[in-house]
Amino acid sequence: MNPRALVLFSGGQDSATCLAWALARYDHVETIGFDYGQRHRIELTCRERFRQQVVATPFQWRGALGQDHLLDMSVLGSISDTAMTDERAIAFAENGLPNTFVPARNLLFFQFAAAVAYRRGLEVLVGGMCETDYSGYPDCRDNTLKALQVAMSLGLDSPMVVETPLMWLDKAQTWAMAQDLGGSALVDLVRRDTHTCYLGDRVHEHEWGFGCGECPACQLRAQGYRTYREAKP
Ligand code: ZN
Repeated sequence: MNPRALVLFSGGQDSATCLAWALARYDHVETIGFDYGQRHRIELTCRERFRQQVVATPFQWRGALGQDHLLDMSVLGSISDTAMTDERAIAFAENGLPNTFVPARNLLFFQFAAAVAYRRGLEVLVGGMCETDYSGYPDCRDNTLKALQVAMSLGLDSPMVVETPLMWLDKAQTWAMAQDLGGSALVDLVRRDTHTCYLGDRVHEHEWGFGCGECPACQLRAQGYRTYREAKP
């Protein structure tokens, strides 16, 4: 039997592309999201809309989409003092990490996802983590997630595979992956109905989507889109 997957789906560009990747690959795919009081809460609205649009668009693989799980992780707000949850400017700390970093956030997300996957009979966790991303979050690194895969499989006494299809891609290649998976219909969907901007700006529309255009996440997304468009024949 084909493995069944659970995608960590935030509503951003990366996890939306991963969702399409998983739908094209597995017969049954569910999604999980986390509400932790993030400043860019608009992404929670985006993830619902993106799921609806996937079903409404005649993608070959849309039939694999199963149910969504949204977990309340508001406890993260009480242990974090960062620009993601507070009204603070995004800056870089002495250790080089931006203060958008919620310590160990992805470790926690993966372990909650693994618990849900176990209960739902899903064996694969898919996440949009990426080492080529500018931010260098240590809980997004390939070795961290490989170690986590081993720990979770042992702790559940059941194989739990962690797939990170974007790990070695840059943002331009992530746009190209969307093109390969679902053509311009999927690129348009990612452009319009995913959210990346740290400030939660859904007012200003650009060729690469909505956002303030100034924060690091917007700049990365915009630069990736431009490179992708220039390389496209
Ligand atoms: Zn922005």
